[in-house]
Amino acid sequence: MREKTRELLKTEHYTNLFSMDKDNIVEMLKFDEKDAEELFRKAREVRSKYMEKFVVRGVVEASNYCRAKCLYCSMNAGNEKLPRYRMSADEIVKSAWKGYNHDIKMILLQTGEDPLFLDYMIPAIKRIKSEMPDAEIICCNGERTEKEYQALKDAGADKYILKFETSNPELYKKYRPHSTLEKRLNCAHLIKKVGLGLGTGFIIGLPGQTDEDIANDILMIKNLQPTPMASACPFIPNKGTELENEKAGDLFYSFKVVGISRLINPSVCMPACSPYEYLKKGGQIDGTGIGCTSVTIRLTPDKYRDLYQLYTNDRITINLDMAKEVVEAAHANWENF
Ligand code: SF4
Repeated sequence: MREKTRELLKTEHYTNLFSMDKDNIVEMLKFDEKDAEELFRKAREVRSKYMEKFVVRGVVEASNYCRAKCLYCSMNAGNEKLPRYRMSADEIVKSAWKGYNHDIKMILLQTGEDPLFLDYMIPAIKRIKSEMPDAEIICCNGERTEKEYQALKDAGADKYILKFETSNPELYKKYRPHSTLEKRLNCAHLIKKVGLGLGTGFIIGLPGQTDEDIANDILMIKNLQPTPMASACPFIPNKGTELENEKAGDLFYSFKVVGISRLINPSVCMPACSPYEYLKKGGQIDGTGIGCTSVTIRLTPDKYRDLYQLYTNDRITINLDMAKEVVEAAHANWENF
């Protein structure tokens, strides 16, 4: 079986890769470093054929209020010690300008599941669209109603990120006890229904997750097509949460997951996410060598940054110079196959 899976990586017929099955994926997840090099090479090849360029996104973390109870996140509703903030529409637009002035035209407006999010999101989106007409707006505000997704779309939002986090319903319920996988997937359906592009993704290395779970996660991205964006980020234990003493996800394993995801979803934008850098200095640059196609810099004002503790409270923040380095590295390994 392993030999057959290795052979698959030599194929010139990409359709063989797009239709890989769960057994092939599980085999690849067990690859040692030598076999993984072949996987990464093929992932770069597929990305170079199907993706045109590497992009830089700017994120504005507009509110850390959250009604959800994710066990791995210190912004969850149960954390009464965390001071909460909510940016005004004016502050959000000013932050977006900081990126736009540096030619960053993909603006991600992220919040916890703040019940009042529409109050500032709608005016902010309308102003960004009128002041920066060629900017693309991506929202990431959690599980919402169809009416709320529609309101974002009507205001001018283009895409919405709602990661499914894990395709295993039991693990989902364990780590996100306020919700269910079924509800999450229904939200994904509603996002598409109102005409927003769906960004998706999952966490790698949650305690109790198996190779089979991860293979199902990778296949779930395919099942959610069309989806323009998907992320596969390693779990980072966050201080002050129930999972603070758990082991972090493994970077080499995460890269295998990204490489396989690239083979199956050739034209999906996949970020070189900040946990790669958290686990290893230079991890985001390494991510460009396995098929990643974007990096995100924070446009959030300094006074709020430490309060937006998504996943971890000592996360790595990259600045514009670091982002440029990542882009240059990505373009250097954008090979002509
Ligand atoms: S991961 Fe998102 S939805 Fe869950 S607690 Fe954190 S901010 Fe809220």
